[in-house]
Amino acid sequence: MSNNSTKNEKMESIVSLAKRRGFIFQGSDVYGGLSGTWDYGPLGSALKRNIMNLWWKMFVEDRDDMYGVDAAILMNQKVWQASGHVATFADPLVEDLKTNQRFRADHLIKDAGFSADGLTFEAIDNLIKEKGIKSPSGNDLSPVRSFNMMFRTNVGPVEDESSISYLRPETAQGIFTNFKNVVDTFYPDLPFGIGQQGKAFRNEISPRDFIFRSREFEQMEIEYFVHPEKWEESFEMWRQLVWKWCEAIGLPSSSVHELEVPAEDRAHYSKRTIDFEFDFPIGREELLGLAYRTDFDLGNIQRVSGKSMEYSVKGTNEKLVPHVIEPSFGVERAVMAVLSTAYTEDEVNGEKRVYLKLPAHLAPVKYAVSPLLKNKPELVEKAKTVYLMLKKQVGAVMWDDNGNIGKRYRRQDEIGTPYCIVIDFETLEDDTVTIRDRDTTNQTRVKISDILPPARA
Ligand code: ATP
Repeated sequence: MSNNSTKNEKMESIVSLAKRRGFIFQGSDVYGGLSGTWDYGPLGSALKRNIMNLWWKMFVEDRDDMYGVDAAILMNQKVWQASGHVATFADPLVEDLKTNQRFRADHLIKDAGFSADGLTFEAIDNLIKEKGIKSPSGNDLSPVRSFNMMFRTNVGPVEDESSISYLRPETAQGIFTNFKNVVDTFYPDLPFGIGQQGKAFRNEISPRDFIFRSREFEQMEIEYFVHPEKWEESFEMWRQLVWKWCEAIGLPSSSVHELEVPAEDRAHYSKRTIDFEFDFPIGREELLGLAYRTDFDLGNIQRVSGKSMEYSVKGTNEKLVPHVIEPSFGVERAVMAVLSTAYTEDEVNGEKRVYLKLPAHLAPVKYAVSPLLKNKPELVEKAKTVYLMLKKQVGAVMWDDNGNIGKRYRRQDEIGTPYCIVIDFETLEDDTVTIRDRDTTNQTRVKISDILPPARA
């Protein structure tokens, strides 16, 4: 079996587990789905929320130099004109001349073993002709054309040019447009940052690879405003913090790679960009980005709105438009990296076992509580007491009395529950329970009063 098919098998196993156990479903599944959209079920939404809360705690709550915002998704169209998205937020589109199926030209080029990095659409067109690249069905392709990825809509009852708006394709612009509001209400010292989490929408030509490339997804972005002469030290600080983040969500450092984006592949305004890539089961792909964007965005806002974006440096007469370092995290890619790191197959008592080795602080369920036998009222009653006690302390606790203990363990293993607690006859005598560890499958006896909530990140 080739390495690739093994990898894709792993991806398929994860997708199937995610569906079977209520993590992630195809969006609008009951109506045949809507391509590029995904719905998070009870466990998936808890996992995603844990990841997002950890990010918020690490990068906003725990820091004195960070401010959080939650801007509207619909924004004045001038935002996207000023930012350049209306003119240039486009991917190269080609069409299969026989089947009329549409594809992203740079992806077909990559699939054929070449690279379209840094190429203009014209150069991509030439490369397709030169290398004789065909559609996945083996047919000829149309010339490349530019396809803008923003979802357009109209705000209000009148559909004309002035009512055009877009579902935001990134959360960053909601930060830049609030730069002055935060400065005027909180008077932060430079350097400082503003963070935001929320939905972003891109009309991807060909969404693929599960949640990796979706049309609706979630971002966690930071704009860190710096003195133009001091950008390098802040860039380095964020580079280190990105590594800390990867560690905090349990990604092995050997699976995370920095790709220093060469000048010809960077946006024209960026003086340095690092793509952090991860070894996903689908291959090494972008997990998140870190970019130095100079004063491009605030400068655009100043130019188009006519309002000053200058900041008065405290204790000096200096006024300047701050430069910005942007760490940009995608939630779906973090979820996929966490799931693929956690997915483990081993053998227990000669039987194949599938489990999610999730870090305890990310696991959707921290404890499962069971009575040894569900038809013994005294055990059930005692187990309920333990369950309610833990639920009050920890929150994410599941009651599980279905099937025999072995089956319960397997079920909890599959959803990544780090600990299963069983109440048996001994509990009634000495107030001890068994705690079974997901990873080692070892069981230990512990006093109820000694059960500790799992450690935080
Ligand atoms: P790609 O090259 O993979 O399309 P990008 O460079 O366009 O990504 P950015 O614009 O830098 O992505 O967006 C920041 C982050 O948002 C990405 O690193 C990724 O984690 C996430 N992201 C971007 N597009 C998608 C998408 N279609 N689905 C899920 N996550 C996405």
